Amino acid sequence: MFAWQIFDAKVKAQLRDEYKIRQVTKVTAETLEELVTKLDDVDPEAALAELKAYNAAVQTDIAFNPNVKDGRSTKGLAIPKSNWANTLDTPPFEAYAVTCGVTFSFGGVKIDPQTGQVEDQAGQGIRGLYAAGELVGGLFYHNYPGGTGLTSGAVFGKIAGAGAASRSRSWPAAATWPAPSGRRSCRSRSTPGAGARHSRASACSARDGRW
Ligand SMILES: Cc1cc2nc3c(=O)[nH]c(=O)nc-3n(C[C@H](O)[C@H](O)[C@H](O)COP(=O)(O)OP(=O)(O)OC[C@H]3O[C@@H](n4cnc5c(N)ncnc54)[C@H](O)[C@@H]3O)c2cc1C
Repeated sequence: MFAWQIFDAKVKAQLRDEYKIRQVTKVTAETLEELVTKLDDVDPEAALAELKAYNAAVQTDIAFNPNVKDGRSTKGLAIPKSNWANTLDTPPFEAYAVTCGVTFSFGGVKIDPQTGQVEDQAGQGIRGLYAAGELVGGLFYHNYPGGTGLTSGAVFGKIAGAGAASRSRSWPAAATWPAPSGRRSCRSRSTPGAGARHSRASACSARDGRW
């Protein structure tokens, strides 16, 4: 799913650097009439009517000031713009295709920070399950310091990789591997080309103790 952001020449200098990279999907036109016909998945007539209604609603008697909440709003629109409302009237016009992204999940599974092993609600390690990156919870609340998404991915990725590798080295061979007590659903499953211990592990859902 995506939307189009439309700017005119008046504000182009204020666009962030991301808008200048080669990979952006950008459409340019000398008039709004022409622009709306170039936008994928857009009803040109409805879009033009929307743009004209927006332009007419901008409170141009209030000075535009991008440095403060300037109160330069729209009047009479069902969804008002509260600040920084600028008319789209100076060609060339540019439209950028934009979409949503989840910057941070702010939540996820609980892990042992020493090994990256995922823990169940009782704090017991879940056998063979290690996690890093966005699906790890408990790192950030409310907000995050810049750059910490990739940092936590790298740090806990290393920890989880080392934890899983270390544990796998101490696994017993499949033939002698004892079934942990209390396990109810650990079925042996053979996977062509996979080592016996790995194919067996993939069919186990028990979570009784560290592994
Ligand atoms: C717009 C934006 C800007 C950001 N800017 C920054 C920044 O400046 N600095 C910073 O540190 N962090 C930033 N982040 C956060 C950072 O990108 C993430 O924290 C980080 O990428 C998470 O890494 P990850 O490996 O956990 O998850 P992801 O990068 O989401 O990787 C998960 C991978 O799993 C794949 N996948 C999903 N389901 C399956 C499946 N069923 N089978 C196989 N593969 C699957 C996905 O395709 C994806 O490649 C930004 C995020 C966004 C969205």
